[in-house]
Parts: sequence; structure tokens; C-alpha cells
Amino acid sequence: MKCELVFVGTELLLGDILNTNAQYLSKKLAALGFDVLFQCVVGDNPERLRKVLEEGLSRSDIIITTGGLGPTKDDLTKEVCASVFSLPLEMHEESLRRVRECFRAKNSPMPESNEKQALMPRGSVIFKNTNGTAPGCAMEKDGKHIIILPGPPREMSEMFENCALPYLKKFSDHVIISHSVRTFGIGESLMAEKAGELLDMQNPTVAPYAKSGEALLRVTAKAENEEEAEKLVAPVIDEIKRRFGNLVYGIDSANPEEALVALLKEKDLTLATAESCTGGLIAKRITDIPGASDVFGCGIVSYSNEIKKSLLGVREDLLEKYGAVSEAVAASMALGAVKAGKSDLAVSVTGIAGPDSDGTSKPVGLVYIAVTDGSNYRIKKLLTGHAEKSCRDYNRNVSASAALNEVRRFILESEDNQKDISAFISSF
Ligand code: AMP
Ligand code: MG
Repeated sequence: MKCELVFVGTELLLGDILNTNAQYLSKKLAALGFDVLFQCVVGDNPERLRKVLEEGLSRSDIIITTGGLGPTKDDLTKEVCASVFSLPLEMHEESLRRVRECFRAKNSPMPESNEKQALMPRGSVIFKNTNGTAPGCAMEKDGKHIIILPGPPREMSEMFENCALPYLKKFSDHVIISHSVRTFGIGESLMAEKAGELLDMQNPTVAPYAKSGEALLRVTAKAENEEEAEKLVAPVIDEIKRRFGNLVYGIDSANPEEALVALLKEKDLTLATAESCTGGLIAKRITDIPGASDVFGCGIVSYSNEIKKSLLGVREDLLEKYGAVSEAVAASMALGAVKAGKSDLAVSVTGIAGPDSDGTSKPVGLVYIAVTDGSNYRIKKLLTGHAEKSCRDYNRNVSASAALNEVRRFILESEDNQKDISAFISSF
């Protein structure tokens, strides 16, 4: 089935809000095996909306719209869609009751204009809005379909899952599934090299992507049903895991922090952090994960040299001789944090986030990360290669991701961890 998407709202054209509905719906429809041929954004203008709909219907089987279902005069999507199919609007009593209930629940009187939200095209399949007042619907004429959904993403996505998806499934004769093998610490080109001939496969296809220091391989298969599609994907994912080993931090996992929190839980380990250039970002990202309290108890933002000394016991001579951004200081910070946090492990980060350097010859984007369990340690020198004016965010985020990844690898590759962190620090 050919499908296209129409997003209604002048605010989208003005750039006031991001069209997140476009990404959401395109992903969902691709997974259902629909070909999304066009996406169009149109303002709250009935003539132009009508034109877009008529053009869309001339080349596609299904049009899905979002937005323009509100109670105000400029919300006209339903009226225009119904008129394109020559369907009159009729009061839908159940929807009217639901709109009234929404106002009663808020203990506020219902403006008359809200009644129009319950006027629905004759013969349409009504989609209940569980998060707001405006119902959506699906209408059909001569084998063509228009589905209208509300604009607010929370209302739209829930209505899509509960109502539009079951409606659309009837028209889908195949499914497309995708899984992402996520890696950290390898660039996109090296990843592509390692993946080699896998990138030339047809079903499943394997495609590399890169973002913020991460690289992932997306494996996508098309089949009659989900089970068949999964069967095509599974051996290819196994082969990728074999080739990439510990560089792989998860399949479909959202991010490095989720993978790390899961691993810490599995191994029954606790972590503390000592952060300089990331300013608490690692702690923030770990505590974003529900249940992080099982594995995380202490995060120290040791931004100044004074605090590095007093809270973490970093030696003054190391700071003077090597500077705060050095492996000696990174190791000392990690050792200080594992003691102060009374944790099994600690990770430290010290680096130059930019855009300005620290007054030495060290480059912006130089970061040292240390992980220790109090005796063994692992140190990474990271050069992000980003020193442009707007590099700060990037450098901080990538440093935090790299730190999370270093902890994961410290746990998984214990035989590679160097021994005796205290001796290492004393050697400076
Ligand atoms: P509407 O249904 O047109 O009254 O839209 C109500 C609100 O939903 C807008 O003000 C936006 O905040 C949000 N919204 C509408 N369309 C989109 C879209 N395509 N992507 C993200 N948010 C949207
Ligand atoms: Mg609107």
C-alpha cells in the first residue's frame, strides 16, 4: 500500500515546533511494510490543505494527517478531509459525552466550540482519544483512505497504537523488522570495513550509521510475518557480534548508560563517579535509568583543583607537574572516588571540553578516563577531534559515553586491566 503523511499546522511551517510526528509515523509505517512516498507540511489553510489531499489521493492509497483537530476556527482538518470525500459531518454522541467528561474531570465549563470536536464524517471509523478531547477517525471512499489523528504527540501516538494500527494492519501483506547492533569505540568507516560483505546482503540488509561517537549496524528484514523476519535477522546479528566482540554494547538498547546499569546489576557491582569536564553528566545519565539506585550511590563533581585534592586526595605535585588533564590525575581521581564512594568501582573523567584550551599546549577534546576497583585499573586517552566553537556539548557527551563504555569494558575484560593503581600513581 502506498501511503503519505500530511502534517497540519502553521506553527510547523514557521519552525516554532519540531515535526516529531513525522519521525514517529514514518518509523511505524515502515515497520508495517507500508511505502511512505511523501510527507507534506501544510499550514492551517483549508484551500491549501484540500489541494494537498487531492494530490495525495491521486497517487497514494492512504493519507494520514496529524493536527488541526482542535476546537478553534483554524482547526479544519476534519472538515476539509470529509469534504474531499463528500461526507457530511454528524454528531457522534459517544465522542460528545467523552469531550464533556474531559471538562467535567477538570471541573471547568465546556466552551460551545468544543462540541465541534465530536462532529464526525458519516460512516467513518471513530478513534477514541484517551489523552485528550479530539477524537480521530478513518474514512474511506473508492478504496482510498484518510486517517486523521490529533497533533499533540502524546495523543497522536496513543491513538495510533490503539486505533490506527489495528485499522492499518488489514492492508499489510508483509512486515519489516529492524534491529540495531550498537557499538562504542569504533568509527563508522572501520565498522564498515569489519562488516565487509555483510553490507552487500539483500534480505536482511545491513546498514552502518554513526552518531556522537557511537556506530551502529541496522539489520532489517522483510518477510510475511514477524517470526519469519526474526529468523532472517538472527544469524546475521550473531555474525556481527562475533566479529565485533566487546565493542558491541547492546542490541536495540537505548544507550550506553542503560547497557551499563544492566551489566552492573547483573554482576552485583556498585559504581561511583568523579567528574571534571563532564560536570556530573555521567551521574545524570546513570540516574536517568530507573533502578539506578541499586548500582549507583555517589557522584562527585570535582571541577576545581582544590576539590580534586581535598575530596579525592589528588596530590598537589601531580596537578602542578602534569596538569589536571593527565593520566596521573585521572587515575588519582578514580582511586579517590572508589574510596569516598565506598563502591566496588569508580570512573573518573578529566579533559578539555572547549571551546578554549586550558592555557597549555594540550588540545581541546583531549580527555582522560580512568576506571578502578581500588587495585586494578584501566586508562583511556580520548581525542575527540572536535575543537570548533560549538564543540563543548559534543565533547562532554562523547566523554560521558566513553566513560560509561570504559566501565563496561573494565568489567568484561578484567584480564586486560592493569594491576596496582596505587603503584601506577606513585610512579609519577
Ligand atoms: P493541533 O491538533 O493542530 O491543535 O495541534 C496541537 C499541538 O500539537 C500543537 O500546538 C503542537 O504543539 C503539537 N503538534 C501538532 N502537530 C505536531 C507535529 N507534527 N509534531 C509535533 N507536535 C505537533
Ligand atoms: Mg493546529
